[in-house]
Amino acid sequence: MTNVNTTISGSLPKPVWLAEGEKIWAPWKLSGNELLEAKADALRLAVLEQEMAGISIIGDGEQTRQHFVTTFIEGLSGVDFNNKKTVRIRDRYDADVPIIFEKVYRKKSVFYEDAKLLRSLTTKPIKFTLPGPMTMIDTLYDNFYGSREKLAFEFASILNAEAKELSEAGVDIIQFDEPAFNVFFDDVKNWGVSALEKACEGLTNKTAVHICYGYGIEANIKWKETLGDEWRQYENIFPQLAKSSIQQVSLECINSKVPMELISLLENKEVMVGVIDVANNEIETPEEILKVLNTASKFINKSKITACTNCGLVPLKRSIARRKLEALVQGTLLFSKS
Ligand SMILES: [Zn+2]
Repeated sequence: MTNVNTTISGSLPKPVWLAEGEKIWAPWKLSGNELLEAKADALRLAVLEQEMAGISIIGDGEQTRQHFVTTFIEGLSGVDFNNKKTVRIRDRYDADVPIIFEKVYRKKSVFYEDAKLLRSLTTKPIKFTLPGPMTMIDTLYDNFYGSREKLAFEFASILNAEAKELSEAGVDIIQFDEPAFNVFFDDVKNWGVSALEKACEGLTNKTAVHICYGYGIEANIKWKETLGDEWRQYENIFPQLAKSSIQQVSLECINSKVPMELISLLENKEVMVGVIDVANNEIETPEEILKVLNTASKFINKSKITACTNCGLVPLKRSIARRKLEALVQGTLLFSKS
């Protein structure tokens, strides 16, 4: 029996006393010290729910973040959050985003305390997610650098310093979320992977990148409908990643039209295989999950597979997310035993 690990890609739904449910970018319901305490409590619950489901690599469920990109950016200076500008995100949907008006820098660690808390709550390996440099610049309006590449490398240095502190806090895997990699292929080739490697420079813990087709929100579902019968986006980026220093790649599989043979482009990497759909409320059966993992194992050694969710679960109902976590563990157990 090969014990195959399970993990979540990043976010879990938040309790309704913290933020409105079934919504991304949901505003906080509390403020000041009450908010700090409520966020920490939500993080504790997120760990408990993963432990109860039997997940083997534990995350913070991104309970302390309003959004996976903007919350990190809020921790930096040089960014104006009062005056927002509407930009098109990933060539897909408009959002009001902060403006960069001078050199950005990190005053202090954004997530160190959260990582310390997460570390104190479980003896299992822990994973912490950060936005990747390219996805960060895609969620901002730049009024200072005038170059996507320049700004991406600035963020890469900032992320590297943050990642080193998370590592000191006891984080085992640092995962950078780069959904923008699935859209801007020329940028990925020209500087995207190098910027990501810079963010990982000198890290002693494991490094990962998550590249998905987005949350199960309407704009993404519509975009997916335009991608045709076979989604071959990964084919543009996996060869570059295969040559990079990044150790793990997280991808979307179940119910997507990604041809699974593309996994073989990552043969020297560990792969987080998405076996939980985040865009519907149906609970995957263990057999469905087993089938996806079996197919994946035709293209990569079983020992290099971790079973994961396709993307973050934040827009789902908590009860649905809990059952999906249980399904993830049950299906992976069948695969481990097979
Ligand atoms: Zn994702």
